[in-house]
Amino acid sequence: MLEKVRMPELEKIDRPNLGDKIDIRLFRALSLFSLRDVVGEDASKTLAYAGGKALGRRTKFKEFEEFLQWMEEKGIARTKSFTFDSEKGIGNLILFETLSSAGLPNLGKPACSFETGLISGVIERLKDRRCLVREIRCYGKGDNECEFYIEVLDVPAYLKRM
Ligand SMILES: [Zn+2]
Repeated sequence: MLEKVRMPELEKIDRPNLGDKIDIRLFRALSLFSLRDVVGEDASKTLAYAGGKALGRRTKFKEFEEFLQWMEEKGIARTKSFTFDSEKGIGNLILFETLSSAGLPNLGKPACSFETGLISGVIERLKDRRCLVREIRCYGKGDNECEFYIEVLDVPAYLKRM
């Protein structure tokens, strides 16, 4: 039954009083604690990443900048900078006020698995190539923003679905 639900149905919100917003702490509790309690820390990060990536692959942005604008509109993150060397297929993205991590104490590791997967999925959709995204700086590591290393691989996206 759930597989029949598509984005247009998902976007219908029948909450005249509560509207379309929830407390961001619920998302964090779900992604950082609840998933971890059920499947363990490594698997919960993999799930958040894979979920973000699956969502990213469903998007239909024409350009990456359109995605960055969408992220801000949806309250996922604001963009500080984005550079991309299309010859090398290598990019760098710096986000702040990030959904998963802004304001977290120093956990000693990146906390934005969902965002990392989302970015990767969107780029794979745009480029039709596999895309490696690694978060190299994060509020979760004690930084004051999140920085992502992006590498578009010369491999068709359909060859691997992770
Ligand atoms: Zn982060």
